[in-house]
Amino acid sequence: MAQAAAEIHSGRILIKNIGLLLSGNLKNPILDANAIVVQDGKIDSLGKESDLNTSGIDSTVDCKGAAVSPGLIDSHVHPVFGDWTPRQNQLNWIDSFLNGGITCMISAGEVHLPGRPKDIVGLKALAITAQRCFDNFRPGGVKIHAGAPVIEKEMVEEDFAEMAKAGVTLLGEIGLGSVKAGEEARQMVAWARKYGIQSTIHTGGPSVPGSGYIDKDVVLEADADVIGHINGGHTALPLTQIECLCEQCSRAIELVHNGNELAALHAMKTAKELKQLDRVILGTDSPAGSGVQPLGILRMIAMLSSLGDIPPEIVFCFATGNTAKIRNLDGGMIESGRAADFVFLSKAQHSSGKDLLDSIRKGDLPGIGGVMIDGIQRIGRSRNTPPAETLPEFL
Ligand SMILES: [Zn+2]
Repeated sequence: MAQAAAEIHSGRILIKNIGLLLSGNLKNPILDANAIVVQDGKIDSLGKESDLNTSGIDSTVDCKGAAVSPGLIDSHVHPVFGDWTPRQNQLNWIDSFLNGGITCMISAGEVHLPGRPKDIVGLKALAITAQRCFDNFRPGGVKIHAGAPVIEKEMVEEDFAEMAKAGVTLLGEIGLGSVKAGEEARQMVAWARKYGIQSTIHTGGPSVPGSGYIDKDVVLEADADVIGHINGGHTALPLTQIECLCEQCSRAIELVHNGNELAALHAMKTAKELKQLDRVILGTDSPAGSGVQPLGILRMIAMLSSLGDIPPEIVFCFATGNTAKIRNLDGGMIESGRAADFVFLSKAQHSSGKDLLDSIRKGDLPGIGGVMIDGIQRIGRSRNTPPAETLPEFL
């Protein structure tokens, strides 16, 4: 199934009776629409069912009032090869994330590979190999953007040009290799940017023995595109430094599950005060020492919304449209032309919330009733979330 994921064509699909349509767009997080038409893996049109052109429909999804969100994007994962992680020696973890609504993942470095090469030729070869492998192999259809090299001191501009030409589009977290000084990192970030490679920097204390401490001065000087786990992974910078990072640069503010939750809430509140919630994106930073969290992004959404007092429809944008915009992805938002990557969800059975959004506001996780990627149904009822109250019917 996985290997063929990219080649299957969805045909023309009508998704109807949507009870709530989350857009992924901060400016307009809830859409006034109850139906979507998908054509060959892309969103064709959306609106009131009666207003849409539903001729030539091959199949129908009856949501029966369930909500639809763009597929969730995990902005910070550490895959290795296949659907296996050596960090916790677990199989099928990506498939488990699919059951948590994840349709797309961004690698912050294939750092857990046993015997990972640190010489320049070896690390470039690994990056190119990982990019190719995950381009060819998508467990459950999940889109995995990988091949994120951990940069080392001896690298020169030509290395970045060569990797970019070979298809590498990301750097692994800066700070996990020998480049830990701001000035050095700044030079390499600039080379990467020149060749269209996006960069992320590790922020805070070391994650595991061997990784480094990166404070706000290094983060600001390096000027990477994403302030990777601004809430630490796990050990966070002092809250005053986190505020400085939000205020003194305009780069993406990444909050991760495997970080300090108090620091995540503080960073989000600072971004809100700055009226810059469009910079906030979510990741799990897993697999890691804390394990593998298939529901990590849903847990972040519930935590940030309930404890941080931000409407859930806004927090959903952090895990969808914000990430898609910052990382130039084809999904993440419900608008025509975008990838038909959807999560079908409702409040969990026996939640005290009166509906999906109220249940999340009260800190409960939603129940997932199905996931679609590129217009293809990948799962029905999630094996990992609490049972959804309303299940869509795939006809
Ligand atoms: Zn890190």
